[in-house]
Amino acid sequence: MAYYNSDTVLWLNGELVRASEAKMDLYSQSLHYGYAVFEGIRSYRTSSGQTRIFKPLEHYTRLETSAKALNMPYGWDRDVLIRATYDVLAANKLQDAYIRPIVYAPANMSFNKNEVSHLAIEVWEMQPFLGDKLLKVMRSSFQRPNPRGFRIHAKAAGHYVNSILASQEAKAAGYDEALLEDMNGFIAEGPGANVFFEKNGELYTPAGGNILEGITRATVLEICKEMNIPVHIKACSYEELKQADAAFFCGTAAEVIGWQRIDDYTFPKPWNETLSAGIQKAYKQRVVEDEFNEETVDTGAETERLRLKI
Ligand code: PMP
Repeated sequence: MAYYNSDTVLWLNGELVRASEAKMDLYSQSLHYGYAVFEGIRSYRTSSGQTRIFKPLEHYTRLETSAKALNMPYGWDRDVLIRATYDVLAANKLQDAYIRPIVYAPANMSFNKNEVSHLAIEVWEMQPFLGDKLLKVMRSSFQRPNPRGFRIHAKAAGHYVNSILASQEAKAAGYDEALLEDMNGFIAEGPGANVFFEKNGELYTPAGGNILEGITRATVLEICKEMNIPVHIKACSYEELKQADAAFFCGTAAEVIGWQRIDDYTFPKPWNETLSAGIQKAYKQRVVEDEFNEETVDTGAETERLRLKI
């Protein structure tokens, strides 16, 4: 997939620059040691035609929390970054987009702290992440990183080596995605999404501590509250999952995506008859509703203004 072309613009340390001309230091501590933090955010064309970023404050708050968890200098203002993100979307004429802010380190081959960090915001057109069909999921041979070895609540680049290994293993074995367990053998999450399962009209999801507690997971919990669906947030075993009626992954890119089976166990309830399918529908509606998004932007006018600067 082409993430950018000669017209693409990104935001780098406060300026809009052409993606094809933007430079990064090959001596960066981030490249060599996976020492960077990032976000995955979605924008949508809402039902009224506006461009809206879904939960931008939550994402930029997590970016700051992640940077601080890794001792990376961080002085950016959330509102400025949200504004900048709308600017990048407008400059690239994108509404349904994936947004990737990344905080990275300068040249530094030691393990010492840095005096500065860099921040880039890249956007590209959203492609289906896991698709719309029900997933075949494989219990991974990889565990999620040990929370005593990593700041697991941070969205740190280095953690994703684990995600890549697990996802590639599952795909090589003919599955769509992996499910990883934590160091204690409880189910944890997917390589880039949280997990829920449904049993007898109630939902279950792993508790925090060994997972990235996603912003989509929080939205699913809000939806469950509104729909009066009981949710158990607790340590969940693989055996419990294998007795469930249905299961799904949720994440910013994946949204809510149902499972067909885990390993040799096919979920018995037809997806359309599950509460999970109702949650999926509610999520899809929520992300394009104007009332859940704070800020609007007239994309056309913004583009004109920004073109003058580039
Ligand atoms: N877990 C992992 C490991 C992830 O990479 C993601 C995607 N950011 C999630 C969970 C879901 O988080 P969110 O809903 O905030 O995108």
